[in-house]
Amino acid sequence: MSDLEIARAAAVRPIEHISDAAGIPREALEFHGRYKAKIDPRLLPEDGRSPGKVVLVSAMSPTPAGEGKSTCTVGLADSLARAGQRVMIALREPSLGPVLGMKGGATGGGYSQVLPMDEINLHFTGDFHAITSANNALAALIDNHIHQGNELGIDPRRITFKRVLDVNDRALREVVIGLGGPTQGTPRRDGFDITVASEIMAVFCLAADPADLKERLADITFGYTYDRRPLTVRDLQVQGALALLLKDALKPNLVQTIAGTPALVHGGPFANIAHGCNSVIATRTARRLADIVVTEAGFGADLGAEKFMDIKARAADLAPDAVVIVATIRALKMHGGVAKADLAQPDLEALRDGTANLLRHVRNIEKFGIPPVVAVNRFGTDSQEELDWLLSWCAGEGIAAAVADVWGQGGGGPGGDELAAEVLAALERPVTFSHLYPLDLPVDEKIRTIVQEIYGADGVELSVPALRRLKEIEANGWSGLPVCMAKTQYSFSDDAGLLGAPKGFTVHVRDLIPKTGAGFIVALTGSVMTMPGLPKEPAALRMDVDADGNAVGLF
Ligand code: ADP
Repeated sequence: MSDLEIARAAAVRPIEHISDAAGIPREALEFHGRYKAKIDPRLLPEDGRSPGKVVLVSAMSPTPAGEGKSTCTVGLADSLARAGQRVMIALREPSLGPVLGMKGGATGGGYSQVLPMDEINLHFTGDFHAITSANNALAALIDNHIHQGNELGIDPRRITFKRVLDVNDRALREVVIGLGGPTQGTPRRDGFDITVASEIMAVFCLAADPADLKERLADITFGYTYDRRPLTVRDLQVQGALALLLKDALKPNLVQTIAGTPALVHGGPFANIAHGCNSVIATRTARRLADIVVTEAGFGADLGAEKFMDIKARAADLAPDAVVIVATIRALKMHGGVAKADLAQPDLEALRDGTANLLRHVRNIEKFGIPPVVAVNRFGTDSQEELDWLLSWCAGEGIAAAVADVWGQGGGGPGGDELAAEVLAALERPVTFSHLYPLDLPVDEKIRTIVQEIYGADGVELSVPALRRLKEIEANGWSGLPVCMAKTQYSFSDDAGLLGAPKGFTVHVRDLIPKTGAGFIVALTGSVMTMPGLPKEPAALRMDVDADGNAVGLF
């Protein structure tokens, strides 16, 4: 059965059953139909209990199909609930770009999914529409300011803020706006990004509360004057309007897993140009309501987990208490040199070679002082011999590990019991969390620390434009911001083809982009897609709605 068929066959409970069991008072709920509700965190009781522990789910360097982080996040939470724990999930909202394009949804898979999966994957509660509107309102206000006399002296050639849409539309990457004469605005080169790559999305996800949201919106640098002074939203004085457009979206969305575990699905920044995890507000809300919160960071642990520790953990003032690294036999074999077409064939030698990739991720997590647990996400093509070998290799390296069959059996069944037991044991271990680098380190030194300590590179090389930008960053007083690396997720290096645990390479930083509202400096390596295109056969070709209004063909 497809993910959608499994989700449709599942018995979804009215959302108040889930909220009641989670101890959420009815007055804190805003219902969106029968199965979704927004929670107003201000209306939750202050009961003085200590915040729940955080389990971060990350992964080894993946294959293009994804190794099942969302699936394991959902399955692990269900398994922890099955073990009697008071648990809540904090996940990102899916973007329509990948949904209609290629990657698929972001609601888990098999019997470990959040429901209603079609609604979550499509328009959900409208948060992305609100974020898109706030973004495009700012874009319109910038162009209107120029049209109305340009008191601030905005240089139309140096506007860095772009319009957005939540679709993959390569035709909009580069556009010219304001054509048609003096009453149509000032002509200038512009472009569209996808909503999930926008700074408004990153700001939305890093804001601690509505007041912090407004401050971060005010701090967004949207462009420069003719004499190269940075201009922020505060100069335009429209942060209030933008915050108003986002006020309801800012409340986390409550849904449920197939097994009935509560899940907050909220915010969804890309993991390349942004930090790639759900909203700080949702994570904090979940910690107030549950003893254990299972959350996910996009891409492999070199990207998602590092950004979680150095960006989100600082903004949210939280540290994960354990990190789960999802690994698959097929990804290990790929890192051991097996071609994509042959990944289903047993190959112990390639499996052994591929463990170099997993081992580097495990040791990296240990550098943050957090106990890692390897979750081997079981696929139908895995042989028992391969699974046994991998577990005994982990034991030999002193790595806590368990095979999880949460996709096939569902987290409500026994498939994730061993993983849950390993995670509970890890949560008992001491955490001595530290960030990878202090904020007062110069930006280029922060990048050097990340590429040497996490990627295993010899060093970093900044291009001429990146060096120029570094000077600007220093002159503008932004050196104290953390770094958000934009890199391929397929390799530790900036070359997607360099698999395993490469050594002796240099990471090349093409450009640096200050995101002063989100509060990080993006370091661009390789080419980063901020407006993806659709593939030759987009997933949209298989989608439909039947005569009863049910979704068809959504993965
Ligand atoms: P990620 O979060 O790492 O991108 P997902 O959890 O979204 O990965 O899973 C990607 C796809 O792989 C989904 O379609 C899911 O159903 C499928 N998948 C995940 N785990 C398994 C498994 N163990 N067996 C078969 N398919 C799986």
